[in-house]
Amino acid sequence: MKGIVLARKLIVGNWKLNGSLPENQSLLKAMLSETSIQAPKPSHVEWVVCPPAVYISQASDLLSGSSIALAGQDVSDQEKGAFTGEISASMLLEFKCRYVLVGHSERRQRFAESNDLIAAKALAAMKAGLIPIVCVGESLADRESGSTFTVLSSQLDPLLSLLNPRALKGLVIAYEPVWAIGTGRNADGSTAQEAHAFLRNKLAQVDLACAAEVSILYGGSVKAANASEYAAQSDVDGVLVGGASLIISEFLSISQAFHA
Ligand code: PEP
Repeated sequence: MKGIVLARKLIVGNWKLNGSLPENQSLLKAMLSETSIQAPKPSHVEWVVCPPAVYISQASDLLSGSSIALAGQDVSDQEKGAFTGEISASMLLEFKCRYVLVGHSERRQRFAESNDLIAAKALAAMKAGLIPIVCVGESLADRESGSTFTVLSSQLDPLLSLLNPRALKGLVIAYEPVWAIGTGRNADGSTAQEAHAFLRNKLAQVDLACAAEVSILYGGSVKAANASEYAAQSDVDGVLVGGASLIISEFLSISQAFHA
């Protein structure tokens, strides 16, 4: 898609299955002090943290009144009822979550979540007023067999077919090649840009104007040392960071790469 991308920049920290009450407190306090006194970030860059579900209440209290947004790591496609272990979108909203991760590759692989279920989760989140960060990405085998774009399409199409075109604006996409997540083997900037441009073109086929406003994040072994590679790409609107988001100096440097 040619033209100016208007999407806001998001720096999202996915804590995964990490943290404890004291660890979370010190990380969030460090983030809060970085956002205010030491290194105010520009308003077009938003920080988002995704703690494990049991710590959302703690994070919500600590982040209250700050510019740091809160996200769930997953959400049910159901509103309420006999779904033991699940958390609904309205519950996340009660604790002031603004975003929720949906379809992370660890959920797809380890919990056998299908593209249809992920579409239903994203839709449930949007209907309730959350912004889903929908994760897509190919495996190494997909990439090596040349089916990256086919896989990305099959992951996104079920959701796009459910959405009113104007609702695209309420969506964030994260391109996370599975072979790059937690492996230390990140996609280089041009590989990420190629996938992001493909995804934005797909969105543009649904609604050209909205596609320019959808933030498309890169995720997969992002750290301070490689963040500027992604910030330099025209269709990369931020990053979804796992391991490095637990280290305040790393998270801050990653963010700074997107401040320009
Ligand atoms: C992730 O959890 O989405 C992720 C990209 O992890 P990491 O940065 O550790 O590769």
